[in-house]
Amino acid sequence: MPESPEVQALAEELGVRLTGHALTGVDVLEFRTTKTRARAPESLMGERVTGVARHGKLLDLAFGAQHLVVSLGRHGWARWGGADAARGESPAPAGEPAPADAPAAKDAPAPPPALVTLAFDDASILEFTDAGDWVSLGLWVVDDPAEVPAVAKLGPDPADPAFSREDFDGAVVGRRKQVKAVLQEQESLAGIGNAYSDEILHAAKVSPVVHAASLDADALDRLFDATVATITGAISDRRGVAIAKLKETKVAAMRVHGRAGETCPVCGGTIHDFSFASTTAQYCPSCQTGDAILPLRAS
Ligand SMILES: [Zn+2]
Repeated sequence: MPESPEVQALAEELGVRLTGHALTGVDVLEFRTTKTRARAPESLMGERVTGVARHGKLLDLAFGAQHLVVSLGRHGWARWGGADAARGESPAPAGEPAPADAPAAKDAPAPPPALVTLAFDDASILEFTDAGDWVSLGLWVVDDPAEVPAVAKLGPDPADPAFSREDFDGAVVGRRKQVKAVLQEQESLAGIGNAYSDEILHAAKVSPVVHAASLDADALDRLFDATVATITGAISDRRGVAIAKLKETKVAAMRVHGRAGETCPVCGGTIHDFSFASTTAQYCPSCQTGDAILPLRAS
């Protein structure tokens, strides 16, 4: 699932390329992606992009006073189609050898289908894809992004320069809920998901299963610093990375997330998996849990 650093880089690339350009074609191949049935994306035909922004993990293409808000959901993403795809700026089709500098792409599945395609007056073609078994991509056409429930509910964003310790404490302190879940709760803190919550907790040396309410002052200090540093650092690291490369760049940058069995870059210990109900995490026992091994869901 794309989280705020990847969506921010996506928004910035789309903003640079599309701002000032008019929408000349809309092809919605999966009608379930349109969440505003009375205002389909086709209603924006002829309008010019005036800017592209991010709200939490959602993308906002402004067309003057109207907005096309895109929720990428669990497996949604964007890619350039048309001539850009022909030039190889999209992932290589399955079966083609991966470039030598991208070993992670070796076992890459076939490119996901484009569910929505937008064409612009400079011949740019933007495709929104969904790699999931069920459609999680969603599009809204609204006058105010806050008309989208997922935007309206967003809590403060740690990437916002105005994000304060008070904002953080308001979201976290006293919560009788596992801290990993609190970090991922969009109503509490905007933009963080499964991957960056693992990274934040590792950087803060906090266990993923501890309840937020039981964190002492030192742990809260570390968690605040790690939240801001991890998210702002990742945003700055992803800036300028082509959208076709963002996913592999994110995966390569993870220190514990997705790295069970590998070595902790901080202490040299072994990273472990934790799973309970719908929660999964990777963590370092010696850095985060006083060497306690957390349970794995029976499978
Ligand atoms: Zn460690």
